[in-house]
Amino acid sequence: MQNLFRLLPAVDAVLADLADIPDLADAPRPLVHDAVTDFLDGLRADIKAGRITDPTQLAPEALTAQCARFAVAACRPHFRRVVNATGVVVHTNLGRSLLADAAIDAAAAACRRYSNLEFDLAAGERGSRYSHVVDILRKLTGAEAALVVNNNAAAVLIALETLAKGREAIVSRGQLVEIGGSFRIPEVMAKSGAILREVGATNRTHPRDYENAISEDTALLLKVHASNYRIIGFTKEVSLPELVAIGRAHDLPVMEDLGSGNLTDFAGIGLPGEPTVQQAVASGADIVTFSGDKVLGGPQAGILVGKAQYIEAIRKNPLNRAVRIDKMTLAALEATLRLYLDPQTARKEIPTLAMITASPEALAKKARRLAAILKKSLAGRYAVKALPGASRVGGGAFPEHDLPTTQVSLTPLAGAPSPDALRERLLVTDPPLIGRIEGDAFLLDPRTLADDELKLVARVLDEALAG
Ligand SMILES: *Cc1c(COP(=O)(O)O)cnc(C)c1O
Repeated sequence: MQNLFRLLPAVDAVLADLADIPDLADAPRPLVHDAVTDFLDGLRADIKAGRITDPTQLAPEALTAQCARFAVAACRPHFRRVVNATGVVVHTNLGRSLLADAAIDAAAAACRRYSNLEFDLAAGERGSRYSHVVDILRKLTGAEAALVVNNNAAAVLIALETLAKGREAIVSRGQLVEIGGSFRIPEVMAKSGAILREVGATNRTHPRDYENAISEDTALLLKVHASNYRIIGFTKEVSLPELVAIGRAHDLPVMEDLGSGNLTDFAGIGLPGEPTVQQAVASGADIVTFSGDKVLGGPQAGILVGKAQYIEAIRKNPLNRAVRIDKMTLAALEATLRLYLDPQTARKEIPTLAMITASPEALAKKARRLAAILKKSLAGRYAVKALPGASRVGGGAFPEHDLPTTQVSLTPLAGAPSPDALRERLLVTDPPLIGRIEGDAFLLDPRTLADDELKLVARVLDEALAG
């Protein structure tokens, strides 16, 4: 054992050997140093535990190659690109919406140079950061006023805090939803200081339920998009126009948390059932909140549109400073919203919209191309087939709606890793690839794969199977 320990190289000697590895050229030196130390500590532990007993296991060239792989993996930035082959377009775990090129460029430009973020160039004096998106949001939604904050959770929180703190907000029991990632309407309300007044039954709420609950303590009528869940069967919900009528009769503001908040009417492409922001505004909602990075296809943001008196009060709330939107987001959001001025352009240029509206024919073609590539690269290891399947929008929009797609399924042939084993191996490839498993097959959905990612999928699968 002592002899084996003596074969271990010194840290500095390994560092010198790694000096020419291209993948480590840009890695911060302290990280490379730590990686080498960790690698050598690992070898020491292996010797001590009897996992290394043969001096040939410590041959210098082999050690250098192993250490280089270890160091490359250890020195990678933690935040990384992944390949999304799940077919879920707005995948919260994988970064939700990809940005349009125009939005990416705008964000980069906002970072690279100084900007008029809070400077009114016409007046030559201090301006408002919100000015960059207010007019376009008013134009696109028809609302009187607009405000943007960090995310929709913040939008809901600050709206409730401004309008209903210490007083009651009336919500239908069927809308007291948890969105995932710990956003629960009752808890957000509690944090805002608004007192939750639930009305109706889980499956049915009537206008009279709201009417009966209204008292001098009532501050707000709130409607919440149920997002990723649906009540089906014997159900009744009070529509936004009905709620607005009740609000008007009692001089109470009506707020709708739309969640995903699309500016595009998807009904025309066979995706009915999601209200647009424009419809909510036209129905007379006083405040409408929605996310920037769900179906809208922009950066993470919370958008509030509605009546000027309420939006202005929310803007002035000191909490607004704590949920303030940053300049990269503002730049990307303005660029995204500008694309919506021409719906055709929006559909083409905004990746989220393009992926949601991709035609079944185009997806089938892409699946066949991917299958052809993989049939070659995985020959003898997996049976590769293009099969009809379903993708999802994600982000709580169109929860019960499958989007028809063609998937590429990989079924292991004798000796190849099982779908579960393949899934694990694909988590440590560069880049990692996330797919789905159904039965005995690993599935790749082309909907969320860019055209230039098909060959990458083949390469990554090769890497997974070699490792
Ligand atoms: C997603 C969602 C939220 C939270 O929005 P974020 O932008 O993720 O903060 C709030 N309400 C509803 C109904 C949602 O669907």
